Amino acid sequence: MATSASADLSKAVKQMYLDLPQGEKVQVTYVWIDGSGEHVRCKTRTLDNEPKTIEDIPEWNFDGSSTDQAEGSNSDMFLEPVAIFRDPFLRDPNKLVMCEVLKYNHKVAETNLRNTCQRIMNMVANEHPWFGMEQEYTILGTDGHPFGWPSNGFPGPQGPYYCGVGADKAYGRDIVEAHYRACLYAGVKIAGTNAEVMPAQWEFQVGPCEGIDMGDHLWIARFILHRVCEDFGVIVSFDPKPITGNWNGAGCHTNFSTQAMREDGGLKVIEDAIEKLSKRHEYHICIYDPKGGKDNARRLTGFHETSSIHEFSAGVANRGASIRIPRNVGQDQKGYFEDRRPSANCDPYPVTEALVRTCLLNETGDRPAEYKN
Ligand code: ADP
Ligand code: MN
Ligand code: MN
Ligand code: MN
Repeated sequence: MATSASADLSKAVKQMYLDLPQGEKVQVTYVWIDGSGEHVRCKTRTLDNEPKTIEDIPEWNFDGSSTDQAEGSNSDMFLEPVAIFRDPFLRDPNKLVMCEVLKYNHKVAETNLRNTCQRIMNMVANEHPWFGMEQEYTILGTDGHPFGWPSNGFPGPQGPYYCGVGADKAYGRDIVEAHYRACLYAGVKIAGTNAEVMPAQWEFQVGPCEGIDMGDHLWIARFILHRVCEDFGVIVSFDPKPITGNWNGAGCHTNFSTQAMREDGGLKVIEDAIEKLSKRHEYHICIYDPKGGKDNARRLTGFHETSSIHEFSAGVANRGASIRIPRNVGQDQKGYFEDRRPSANCDPYPVTEALVRTCLLNETGDRPAEYKN
């Protein structure tokens, strides 16, 4: 099994040092999305006292030329703290902090899609939009081969692995359980987890989260998963189709509701929203992966519990549709709906923003000009 060198360092020796008292000082790890729009970076600094709110955490900077976010000649970028979590690796009183990235002139960086999302969420705050995202992912060895798969070949065909139990069915549960507990400790609104259809593929759910919290919580949950995998010497992939052929891809189903959808008569409001979505399929596909639909084209084939990328569809309990109304929502006549199109490597900020723009702000037509990628 291909694992990393640092994972083989003694964790017992490390723990000796982590058990040392840290005094009054607090370590704060700043987390941000890098130039790829898919990966996270982090760096840590000392504060004199424990920060109680986000206002207690100062702005910081980093070298944007090393993260594909700036040219070398003007490379200082700013980190603007926006959401604070407990640090499950260094533990209390240390913190993780999600950051927005600003350019040298304090203008929003091209890769910072949170800023606009926040503005749009503020416009619809009175409708209390809730989101729940189902993050699918695949565990890989450092050689890029799926964790636990035979080194020359494939495991048995799909069937026994989804929610599977047993050494021949569940590949890498240690990582899943460590990540789940770390999220709970951090204050991430993790809702659950399950083994997926392809062996070494798993899912965790975050939500329901209101407005901008969805993106903040999902990005920190992803950061925690990368860090947990680092400790175990393996890699997490959010590629939407890590293995071609008869293997399921990885999505990030996005569940959505407003207060009106959750109240009596909500099904009608849900159906109206789906009607609006049906007229704007291409716009959403453009935003639902970081490459304007190219990544999702490998996944949304119409097979393996996906819909075709080329057409919009919706249905109750239909896992082959773009939009699914869960069975219990059909029965209760209220609740939420699920958009099954977002890719596992999507940015949750523009995804949640697009749902609000189309369903609540009644936008139609092409993508807004501010999207440049
Ligand atoms: P599935 O049946 O599609 O696998 P999951 O149980 O994996 O569904 O995920 C359901 C997601 O929906 C969770 O993230 C949950 O937080 C979210 N959710 C539940 N109720 C609502 C709601 N009213 N509005 C938005 N999201 C919701
Ligand atoms: Mn699910
Ligand atoms: Mn799933
Ligand atoms: Mn789902």
